[in-house]
Amino acid sequence: MDRSDGRARRTSDERRALTDPSRRCRVRVAGGSIFDGTRWHQDRDLVIENGLVAGITATASRCDVQLDARGCLVVPGFVDAHMHLFPGFVSRLPAFGVTAAVDMFSTPNVLDAVRRESVHHPLSARWMSAGVGVSVEGGHPRQLIGQGMYEAFPSLDPAGSVAEFVDARIDEGSAFLKVFLEAGRVAGQVLPVPDADIVRAVCQAAHRRGLRVIAHVTDAAGGLVAVRNGVDGLAHAVIPGPDDAAAEELVREIAERGVFVIPTLVAISSALGIGHGELFAGTVARRVNQAWTAHARHLGRTTADPAAWERTQRFVAELACAGVQLLAGTDAAFPGVVPGASLHVEVALLQSCGLPLDDVLTAVTSAPGSLFFTDGVGRLVPGGVGDVVVIDGDPQDQLQTQRLRAVVMAGAVVTSDLDAAVEEPAERASPVTAPSPIFRRSP
Ligand SMILES: [Zn+2]
Repeated sequence: MDRSDGRARRTSDERRALTDPSRRCRVRVAGGSIFDGTRWHQDRDLVIENGLVAGITATASRCDVQLDARGCLVVPGFVDAHMHLFPGFVSRLPAFGVTAAVDMFSTPNVLDAVRRESVHHPLSARWMSAGVGVSVEGGHPRQLIGQGMYEAFPSLDPAGSVAEFVDARIDEGSAFLKVFLEAGRVAGQVLPVPDADIVRAVCQAAHRRGLRVIAHVTDAAGGLVAVRNGVDGLAHAVIPGPDDAAAEELVREIAERGVFVIPTLVAISSALGIGHGELFAGTVARRVNQAWTAHARHLGRTTADPAAWERTQRFVAELACAGVQLLAGTDAAFPGVVPGASLHVEVALLQSCGLPLDDVLTAVTSAPGSLFFTDGVGRLVPGGVGDVVVIDGDPQDQLQTQRLRAVVMAGAVVTSDLDAAVEEPAERASPVTAPSPIFRRSP
């Protein structure tokens, strides 16, 4: 393999050997600093067998493929905790190191298409969905029907039973409930929102069925209604106004009640007219095609509001200081936000809000993995899924997740420019089962 130009060249034979399912019965990711989702392991090897993590070990043993990860960071596959899936997304996410995605709103037809894509491309990202969630007539995100983005979907009848509405969403396949409290901060117009009684009834009905509730909020007033009436998480950071006492109160209440927050900084900055498309770098930048590069430049607003953006960053920094669990999510494909690539920008923005290295890595791996998925998603634990990202460089110097060196999905090498040794299998391996698309309820 010639690496004289700094990038690996691999022959097609080598490539085939790495991605051939029969070769991936035992994969070793050797050396490197391993962060397993909660703890560090130095000078150890990660071994994946039949698609699942076998262990983190210092003992060398036979393997079919060995990737040399010395000088690299080895972490669980990334989880994007806030996306809106469309056909074409899940099959491409692993190339960006994103091996699992939480869909925060989609209609049944769109999800059917995503499900077909997952079956057609066995190495697609794992995913689960809120389905259509709880909105009121005339409220967000019902304007998307008029824009032709989604087919018609039911809204809550103010005279009807909230519990029955929630049950219908669960029967439709919702893995958690999303409730929309967008009073117009982002939309730029006053919108109707579910009132406190509805939010409380949604939380009671969902919790009774063992499902979590996540609220879309973008202002502190909506955030307070959500957390005081029982939601488990917020799908965005709020955009505080100047001298916003309610935002300070919200930070305290979020921390006290143990609510998690998915700040989606990359989407909020776009909504405030501040772009981060220019921040794509390294391997990630090379994988963003022309159409998505154009999408990254197309922001949610043309006039920038840097003061509001600064207040939002300060809000997230205060959440972090208060010990609130933050999750990395992008809200892709909101204007300016690119599926896969923008999660790396979100990681950088969370760091810029003062999150320490371990907290940033947790936010993009084990925190969303354990909240939304089972099977060890977001962690490198024995018996858990063998989804791994290898990043160039020592993270203690500077975390630059965009310098992807390898991605392993369910034990199969999706992409790699690491030096690799491929051994002849002693006996023909049994075929590896493909990762099944996860569309199931929260624990
Ligand atoms: Zn969203």
